Amino acid sequence: MTAIVIAGAGECGTRAAFALREEGWDGQVILAGAEPSPPYERPPLSKTGELKPICDSGALREARITFLPGTEVAGLDTAAHVLELADGRRLAYRSLLLATGARARRLPFGGAPVHVLRTRADSAALRERLRPGRRVAVIGGGFIGLELASSAAALGGTVTVIELGPRLMGRAVPARTAAVMAERHIAAGVDIRCGTGVTGLAQTASGVAITLAEGPTVEADVVVAGVGAAPETSLADAAGIETCDGITVDARFATSAPDVFAAGDCCRYPHPLYDDRPLRLESWRAAQEHGTAAARAMLGGTGPYAGVPWFWSDQHDYTLQVAGLADTAAGEVVRARPDGVEIWFGLNGSGRLVAAAAAGPGNSVAKDIRLAEMLIARRAAPDPAALADPAIALKSVLRSPVAS
Ligand SMILES: Cc1cc2nc3c(=O)[nH]c(=O)nc-3n(C[C@H](O)[C@H](O)[C@H](O)COP(=O)(O)OP(=O)(O)OC[C@H]3O[C@@H](n4cnc5c(N)ncnc54)[C@H](O)[C@@H]3O)c2cc1C
Repeated sequence: MTAIVIAGAGECGTRAAFALREEGWDGQVILAGAEPSPPYERPPLSKTGELKPICDSGALREARITFLPGTEVAGLDTAAHVLELADGRRLAYRSLLLATGARARRLPFGGAPVHVLRTRADSAALRERLRPGRRVAVIGGGFIGLELASSAAALGGTVTVIELGPRLMGRAVPARTAAVMAERHIAAGVDIRCGTGVTGLAQTASGVAITLAEGPTVEADVVVAGVGAAPETSLADAAGIETCDGITVDARFATSAPDVFAAGDCCRYPHPLYDDRPLRLESWRAAQEHGTAAARAMLGGTGPYAGVPWFWSDQHDYTLQVAGLADTAAGEVVRARPDGVEIWFGLNGSGRLVAAAAAGPGNSVAKDIRLAEMLIARRAAPDPAALADPAIALKSVLRSPVAS
């Protein structure tokens, strides 16, 4: 029996390897990861900086997963069902999962050293430079940039965030929720500059001078770019597998090549809750769920994946959570809780709940977002007045009618 091979030992690939065993596959499982270390979690890299393994080598051994660290899959012959490793070895596969993730985008110009943050190595290089009193410039006001801004401030840095868009987290977070986080950053002393782009970087005697399209030059000792991530599709592209800002897959993660699947940050998949709109997510939970779903599909499962998109971000002592897709909302309802936390709900044109978001101290928003997620999954069309009324338990709203 030929092996099931997984290219990429991140959140998705590692989960898929274990899920194959959980689903009863008894044949060989090969997990090839380009990075030299055992699988680790990325979310702590921008928060505490702590190194958190996904699993230890004992667990991989026990599950009889052949783990090949520092091993890049370099080529693919989809007709022959054979792949080539960077060291020249060739492996035959029965099924192949591409779980190659994404890589940090870089600024289009040089002039001074700029950190990015995707890997353990990036994190080590950056953490080494975050010291009390250092001036830290974060280019990009998305999640990773803002999490870093909050850790740099906690470590005693003087932090400036430069964001091209008119507000923070413009891509996936509703304006109201983003404004709560912006206030929290400002209260922590972070200088937020939105609506201005970086036009150049220059090394000076005292650090780096960052010139902006609008506003005064920012002087920094450490510069970090948090300007998004690009899906790692090079292997798929070279093999002639269909890609479109992500490896194109169907609702069971099958690519255009026979027996080749793709999942996690690298894939773009149709979501049944959103009219099969092709989605590419960069979300820890999605990467795990994709891994499990892709493992089932590789073993012949036919069910489509319909998990509600969800992510969280920790910034200072606040946690932000978003369920669903905020940009599909045509209208909004806000529930103002007595504790000062606002839960934002997004409804589509037919009144169906399609997204919810909130930010607040500690774990204060988790329960409401969890309930909202259940409503989104059920395609509920709740009464907007009930959603808005903090005296009505969200749990009771779960009995809402389902949208047609
Ligand atoms: C700093 C940071 C903080 C984050 N924080 C959050 C958060 O708070 N909340 C949240 O929901 N999400 C967060 N995320 C996103 C989340 O971590 C990702 O969505 C998730 O890691 C994606 O998993 P993946 O397995 O698809 O890809 P990755 O984790 O990127 O793993 C892909 C792996 O494949 C390897 N690879 C690539 N090409 C090849 C090849 N040809 N051969 C072999 N191996 C290859 C790569 O080296 C990499 O190790 C964060 C991400 C980062 C970077």
